Amino acid sequence: MASNGTNGQPHREAPKQNGKAYEYVDHEFDVVVVGAGGSGLRATLGMAEQGLRTACITKVFPTRSHTVAAQGGIAASLKNMTPDSWQWHLYDTLKGSDWLGDVDAMQYLAMEAPKAVYELEHYGVPFSRTEDGLIYQRPFGGHMQNFGEGPPVQRTCAAADRTGHAILHTLYGQSLKNNAQFFIEYFAIDLIMSEDGRCTGVVAWDLDDGKIHRFSAKTVVLATGGYGRAYFSATSAHTCTGDGGGMVARAGLPLQDMEFVQFHPTGIYGAGCLITEGVRGEGGYLVNSEGERFMERYAPSAKDLASRDVVSRCMTMEIREGRGVGKEKDHIFLHLDHLDPKILHERLPGISESAKIFAGVDVTREPIPVLPTVHYNMGGIPTNYYGEVLNPTASNPDAVVPGLMAVGEAGCASVHGANRLGSNSLIDLVVFGRAAAIRAGEVIDRTSAVPALDKAACDRIMARFDKVRYASGANPTAAIRERMQKAMQEDAAVFRTQETLEQGCRRISQIWGEMSDLKINDRSMIWNSDLVETLELENLMANAITTVYSAEARKESRGAHAREDFTERLDGEWRVHSLANLSESGEVTLSYRPVHTEFIAEGMPEEKMAPKKRVY
Ligand SMILES: Cc1cc2nc3c(=O)[nH]c(=O)nc-3n(C[C@H](O)[C@H](O)[C@H](O)COP(=O)(O)OP(=O)(O)OC[C@H]3O[C@@H](n4cnc5c(N)ncnc54)[C@H](O)[C@@H]3O)c2cc1C
Repeated sequence: MASNGTNGQPHREAPKQNGKAYEYVDHEFDVVVVGAGGSGLRATLGMAEQGLRTACITKVFPTRSHTVAAQGGIAASLKNMTPDSWQWHLYDTLKGSDWLGDVDAMQYLAMEAPKAVYELEHYGVPFSRTEDGLIYQRPFGGHMQNFGEGPPVQRTCAAADRTGHAILHTLYGQSLKNNAQFFIEYFAIDLIMSEDGRCTGVVAWDLDDGKIHRFSAKTVVLATGGYGRAYFSATSAHTCTGDGGGMVARAGLPLQDMEFVQFHPTGIYGAGCLITEGVRGEGGYLVNSEGERFMERYAPSAKDLASRDVVSRCMTMEIREGRGVGKEKDHIFLHLDHLDPKILHERLPGISESAKIFAGVDVTREPIPVLPTVHYNMGGIPTNYYGEVLNPTASNPDAVVPGLMAVGEAGCASVHGANRLGSNSLIDLVVFGRAAAIRAGEVIDRTSAVPALDKAACDRIMARFDKVRYASGANPTAAIRERMQKAMQEDAAVFRTQETLEQGCRRISQIWGEMSDLKINDRSMIWNSDLVETLELENLMANAITTVYSAEARKESRGAHAREDFTERLDGEWRVHSLANLSESGEVTLSYRPVHTEFIAEGMPEEKMAPKKRVY
């Protein structure tokens, strides 16, 4: 393999367990990025552009990463269509987060967003255009003018309803142009952690030829995406299995704010596929069985464009009170049949197709049946706004893990706090992918040697791999996964109570126990989907168990975490980030970290930013 950074020839090493030797290939890089979604590719590109020897490992082909499915758009205060400012964007993000986000990270996001979008434009993203040739921007939920006091702002930059697709293809092309080296269809198994808590690399399995690749690196960036598939019904791809969170938990590091799981109001009923919020941005609206536009009652000013947690709760309440539509009265209708078919064709071609395929609906004539569906994980691997992973200690809540970064949905910077605004994830991917590259450029010493391969740590990683590969218990992976997904769907849902959450903890802990009695049928190393799915299940379980335990402990309602027994937000006690550490035997230990409330730059009217009740 011709490459920068790759030194190894394949070689065999002594058998570890079960009499089988693995064929190893060893590599050295300045940076290894795990994940080739929007965040991983933006980080990879930024690293490679600076001449850092950069590898990007991905379990699926880069342009098949879940980012490709992002429809609606990417938020930045470009002011192309309505007045706007980064201060308004920051305010909306903070309010959307229900005052749990870190203010420094949110300010960085809002200020850097326009720059990051113009960079995408210059890299070649084919944005939709206004008549004047500017980037087209649509309204999106929770994005308002004038510190939430004005009408909806048009802030969400879009390439029709295929924005993620456009971004991903552009960033992949640019990364190749800058000589980043891709390891495609490689499954990252675990981080190589040194005794003193530094990350020195990652071990990955080449799914195609079965070799094990050991990467030594000065910095590893986790960009592995969310864990939507811990739930039964999710808009995310089947590959969204929280592998980065699993690796971090196994490395003894905490996961942050895991209780905050976003339900998107408009997943297609039954199928779970997403209908973008851009539909409501373009004038679509929700109705109940009485034909009422009920959002007018709950959110008089923002109406259907209130933030996602609010709309999802309102829909759930309508259904509970008997005003759902359909035979079972268990969903809601989304109308866009009043919109000009030309607009639908130009701006929302993808969702017209999805509605036809997955609901059998012609959107120009009939409403789409929809239901709140798991969509996004606000929680994840805690980082600062440079993308560096944190391992808070009692004396330093912002202590950094040397050699480890996390970006994108896998990370938690935290810009989304308790609830993310629509179109704020794509901008998070590129702003923090870029920030991680800038930071790496500053902290990586190009003249120093790459850390030596820690073979003992690699052997421990392969021992776990072997344990899974040769598991011959009683529980097939698919059966355990389904039990986990159902427990999460039922017990860590839109509305939560002590009873459901305690039940959720019991169920998930029991399922954790069943994991020790797993059954794998296929022992091969070539395209072994049984083994991949089992490694993914282990990662999903780490995310799921920390989610329900964090949720059980948080005795308040905030953003997406809505408790029927603690209905108020309690800032005095709970304006803190949850941290969950997971032991090998499945015990979750919780601790808390203060929210950052300090601005990093001038220009923000501080009195506007104080926590208040969130109404739309
Ligand atoms: C249907 C849908 C529509 C959306 N629409 C929007 C929108 O319009 N606007 C918006 O702002 N947000 C939107 N979102 C949210 C946003 O798209 C995601 O949060 C975001 O794309 C996640 O990007 P990412 O880079 O973190 O990870 P992903 O795009 O999920 O990519 C993860 C990468 O990690 C790799 N990977 C994972 N595990 C491993 C492993 N073990 N080994 C090797 N590689 C691994 C995968 O191969 C992949 O390349 C949408 C989400 C969905 C599901």
